[in-house]
Amino acid sequence: MSNLTDISYVKAVLSKNGFSFSKALGQNFLINPSVCPKMAELCGCNDNIGVIEIGPGAGVLTNELAKKAYKVVAIELDKRLLPVLEETLAEHDNVKVINADAMKLDIRKLITEEFNGHQVVICANLPYYITSPIIMRLLEERLPVESLTVMVQKEAAERICAEPGTRESGAISAAVNYYSHPELLFKVSKGSFLPAPKVDSAVIKLNILKKPPVATDDEKLFFRVVKAAFSQRRKTVLNSLSSGLSLPKAYVSEVLENAGIKQTARAEELKMQEFAAITNILKNNRAE
Ligand code: SAM
Repeated sequence: MSNLTDISYVKAVLSKNGFSFSKALGQNFLINPSVCPKMAELCGCNDNIGVIEIGPGAGVLTNELAKKAYKVVAIELDKRLLPVLEETLAEHDNVKVINADAMKLDIRKLITEEFNGHQVVICANLPYYITSPIIMRLLEERLPVESLTVMVQKEAAERICAEPGTRESGAISAAVNYYSHPELLFKVSKGSFLPAPKVDSAVIKLNILKKPPVATDDEKLFFRVVKAAFSQRRKTVLNSLSSGLSLPKAYVSEVLENAGIKQTARAEELKMQEFAAITNILKNNRAE
């Protein structure tokens, strides 16, 4: 019987299958036995809820999710891990492993086909090289999921969960806060992984919102404004918007004044409502 909380068992299965870790695929596997049960608990799955996992690795988190969830669908890019997962997850009949790239797979279709109308959550220890793109892909597609509980590098976690308008915030904070209510759940030391990465990690939970926290007249423009505002963090919003959106400075200055934003403000000082106000003024001016 598999004991995935026993690191010597996991190492033995990996070595039996001739597996070597790929840095390019962000393969740092969890070996701290307390982390996976905690993630499975906090992601909120139960026997009525399905889970999508991205990058099951040797299956340590998958195993904990399978004990609790209605069903787990795990998407793994690395073919070499398929025989490993077949062995480590053999005792679960509610797990399906799909060999695919999570950046390309049609996840909406997967949800319709695999979960029989059950609510779905996403839970994963994400490969660090695609943290932001995968989170943004999952959010932007407005998939029918309740939440994303994911392990990311600690700095990324702090940036993603920062409230817009605070010093730690960035373009990703504004984007994440547009689609979800983010929470930083707990930190995980680098020694909890094999091989140990250079930095610590943290588990965050993004609770999907039914509707955005601010009203914008043009969602695409809202994200262009956010991106342009943060494109040169040290500059004022006046300068970064003017160069990022190719607009005359005098015009941007007027927009900021109409939005009630001071001319010396920097992107990290702006709240969601202020990004929305800039967007809506730009949009209305265009329409005139
Ligand atoms: N869940 C395991 C754990 O916690 O020990 C492994 C996590 S490891 C940080 C990331 C996993 O994602 C690896 O198994 C890696 O092969 C896989 N992976 C990397 N890129 C991927 C992609 N584009 N789509 C799906 N899986 C990917």
